[in-house]
Amino acid sequence: MSTMQSPAHPLAGQRALVTGGSSGIGAAVARALAAAGAKVVVNYAAAEDKARQVIDAIHAAGGEAMAVRADVSQEDQVQAMFSTMLEDYGSIDILVNNAGLQHDAHFPDMTLKDWRRVLDVNLTGQFLCAREAAREFIRRGVVSELSRAAGKIVCMSSVHERIPWAGHANYAASKGGISMLMKTMAQELAQYRIRVNSIAPGAIRTPINRSAWDTPEAEATLLSLIPYGRVGDPPDIAQTAVWLASDASDYMTGATLYVDGGMTLYPGFRTGG
Ligand code: NAD
Repeated sequence: MSTMQSPAHPLAGQRALVTGGSSGIGAAVARALAAAGAKVVVNYAAAEDKARQVIDAIHAAGGEAMAVRADVSQEDQVQAMFSTMLEDYGSIDILVNNAGLQHDAHFPDMTLKDWRRVLDVNLTGQFLCAREAAREFIRRGVVSELSRAAGKIVCMSSVHERIPWAGHANYAASKGGISMLMKTMAQELAQYRIRVNSIAPGAIRTPINRSAWDTPEAEATLLSLIPYGRVGDPPDIAQTAVWLASDASDYMTGATLYVDGGMTLYPGFRTGG
């Protein structure tokens, strides 16, 4: 273990960027990284008040954080966000590529606009942020007091990188793309001691999927897809992100961790098929 880390603060001294950090999973990840000792940039697209609430919660718990606005699908905004972070925090050690959205439609009715927006944010956004992070990780190299790796990238994927999803062709395609983007980056960047992994959440209670859990009927339908018998909560994902960002997972790169209560275990076959 390097000198600044402790079991309670495995990310002490490190600097993290969480995209889409103002709500849901991203907000929980930002708080958990800060609790583990990292200084955190909370990226948000529009909801400055919600980003401010996350920052205030981190400060109240004794952590350090700042909010930076950027639409991750826009190259100039991503580059400006990284410039701000590097100026204020000096460098970056951890990127959590979390920002994502859905624009759902029955396939024959899906507009090109809806297709492009989801691919632009969910996939191109991860490319743009990962590229800026990789450039800085390579420039700076390993700082052994902070981490055994020069940098860590955690991509927020979904069980839908594997499970086809009717009515969500754009979203499923974006997550399938993240799977191969993540593995190719992991293969190409390992020589620089950069680790790249994904988390594939199942159903987590956040604003993105409110209609799937906010009535008892909807929740019952959802639970039929989850062998473990409960809907996930953002901290289920946040703890996984902390582990992937820490040296506890130093020998892991190119992996997708399914955190899904068994959703990818073909629950339809529970009774023998
Ligand atoms: P959420 O809607 O609460 O969070 C998504 C965040 O992304 C929001 O903060 C939003 O403002 C931000 N965002 C959207 N467009 C952006 C842009 N252009 N630039 C910057 N930020 C932008 O939903 P969530 O469930 O917390 O989703 C977080 C991630 O987890 C997404 O990538 C989503 O696909 C993934 N995911 C969620 C679930 C789930 O069940 N909730 C399951 C699998 C994967």
